Amino acid sequence: MIQQPTLSPLRELGHLVEVEANKRRLILASVSLFGFVLLSVYGVAHFSIDESRLGSFYVLCAAFCAANLVYLYKRTSYSIPLTVLNTTLGGICVVLLYRGMTEGFEPYWLFPVLCISLLINRFAHALTSAVLLVALTLAAQVMGGLSLLDTPFAENSGLRLLLSLSGMACIVLVAVYRTERASKLLLELHEEDIHRLAYYDSLTGLANRPSYLRWLSKVLERARKDARSLAVLYIDLDNFKQINDRCGHRQGDRVLVEFGNRLANCVRPQDGTTRLYADEDVARLAGDEFVVTLHNLREPADAAQVAQRILELFENGFSVDGITHPISASIGITFSESDNLDAETLLNQADSAMYHAKQTGKNTMSFFSKSIAEAVSERRNIEQALQVALAENLLQLQYMPIFASNSLEIVAVEALIRSTHPLLMKTGPGRFIPIAEASGQIRSIDEWVMHHAIGMQRRLRDDAAFTGKMSINVSAVELHNPELPVTLAASLAEHAVSPGDIEIEITETALITGDELSLRTLHQIRDTGVSICLDDFGTGYTAFNQLMNYPVSTLKIDRSFVQQIFTGDKTHRKMAGMLKKLAELYELQVIAEGVETAQQLKYLKRIGCDSVQGYFLARPMTAEALVAHLQEAPRGH
Ligand code: C2E
Ligand code: MG
Ligand code: MG
Repeated sequence: MIQQPTLSPLRELGHLVEVEANKRRLILASVSLFGFVLLSVYGVAHFSIDESRLGSFYVLCAAFCAANLVYLYKRTSYSIPLTVLNTTLGGICVVLLYRGMTEGFEPYWLFPVLCISLLINRFAHALTSAVLLVALTLAAQVMGGLSLLDTPFAENSGLRLLLSLSGMACIVLVAVYRTERASKLLLELHEEDIHRLAYYDSLTGLANRPSYLRWLSKVLERARKDARSLAVLYIDLDNFKQINDRCGHRQGDRVLVEFGNRLANCVRPQDGTTRLYADEDVARLAGDEFVVTLHNLREPADAAQVAQRILELFENGFSVDGITHPISASIGITFSESDNLDAETLLNQADSAMYHAKQTGKNTMSFFSKSIAEAVSERRNIEQALQVALAENLLQLQYMPIFASNSLEIVAVEALIRSTHPLLMKTGPGRFIPIAEASGQIRSIDEWVMHHAIGMQRRLRDDAAFTGKMSINVSAVELHNPELPVTLAASLAEHAVSPGDIEIEITETALITGDELSLRTLHQIRDTGVSICLDDFGTGYTAFNQLMNYPVSTLKIDRSFVQQIFTGDKTHRKMAGMLKKLAELYELQVIAEGVETAQQLKYLKRIGCDSVQGYFLARPMTAEALVAHLQEAPRGH
């Protein structure tokens, strides 16, 4: 197992770079300030002794230094001030050397220029300017008539000047070199950690996605040459988000680290199925997603065996630091043997298989196949379309009237979601709602529907004097949302709609017996005065005695029973009657949905169904059509 690196090297490195930059800015600012003061004094002095050309030159240089100071104060970059200073110094050098040649030599003025030039430049540049300056000085001396052959101690000796200049250049150069070397060494010391940060996940120390993919490409090629098969297991933790929500991110991180360790132990070299080639055998791709690669597979079952071992890690919950978390894993498995796949595609296949495992109830494994890939890609497309529809307001509601079976008066309307997004229009809510439930998008959808349907109820009351109820479908998944009753109440208050005018439809299949949280939410909703209807009744597994526990007032007999009244065998025909009797027993209202023929309607009336809905009576319609319809037939016939 790789030792866990921390982020500190990167921070330290950032700190180092910052210190270095600050140091350079400080030097440049000091030099600019010094130059500004000195050159201003010089400029003024030259004007006073009637050397206005030289005075102007020095004043110009002083202005450069002042501009540099302002720039350094406002910006963090120091390349422009450096160039300005170097140019200024160059100009001063030229002037000094020219004067040296023409008006007798004043060589010692070159010392501060040389010092400053060495101070402000990096080593390589400093070395060049030192050599250049010494060479130019030498040339100027020769041209100015100074002899290099004097002893160094002679007055105005060229040799003495040369030695002093070169000596000073050497001292400053050594100083510059040493500081630069020290920073470089520090950077090198951190190089290993930087490498680790780039290639390994900082939390678990496992390989990260980019390095895993690079490595997988190489191993795939090798496996292909050796005619070996390779398996990729894509693992995603189920309900991991709850750990972060309930126990905090620190505990979430601990679970990930611990899972990484235990995962590495599941891949055993000794059991013959796998051999640890490298650290990359186990990698963390992102968040709670991990991947395991198996080499030298004898048969696909070997991969399943490892996957099973991983699932067993969660058999009694996942304990870390004495806390047991109710999480599990969904695993997708794919093999390299089939086509000439690249690493990215292979990983995507394993990801699709994992997604499928998640959709089929989590805590399980799934093998990649073409049909799975198609299903997964369809689901993903629908998820994306839902995202677009929510963001761009491409959702709509249609309304389906519900009639009293005896009077055929409209006693309620059911709000049904539609979308103008082409893909969602094609698939319909029967397909996209379960996908939204699985992806978590259902919360936004149900909130949207609730808000608009309640708004529509207000409109029906005001514009069409409608006295019936508005039925709103709410996903059973949302019963785990403690905010649901609050959102509902807020929507009712906003549109000034009485709770008694709204009914919530919950699909029976989605209700889980003994789910306390859902039951509590249902009770809270009922307590606000909103009634509850059990939709698609007869298709789920609600034990009859469980019905007592649900605070429902209506059962909606599923379409399949209504359709089989005259098409199925006798038992089917009896079913609708039995469901009605059951409702009577618990004193519940009964609606039959999916009425498509007069014959069905007659039968449902005969067995005593309170209300009916179906294409025979009215199809779902737009808000405008419904308002017009209700206005035309005020009593809703
Ligand atoms: P559901 O709540 O059972 O709605 C009844 C479905 O049966 C509707 O399909 C309706 O158009 C259809 N239907 C009604 N009578 C007939 C008939 O006589 N013949 C036929 N062939 N079909 C009939 P739709 O609108 O496609 O909705 C399908 C399901 O999607 C709904 O079943 C419901 O579970 C869900 N759904 C629809 N709108 C929403 C919504 O706003 N929120 C949530 N959470 N789910 C919704
Ligand atoms: Mg419904
Ligand atoms: Mg239904």
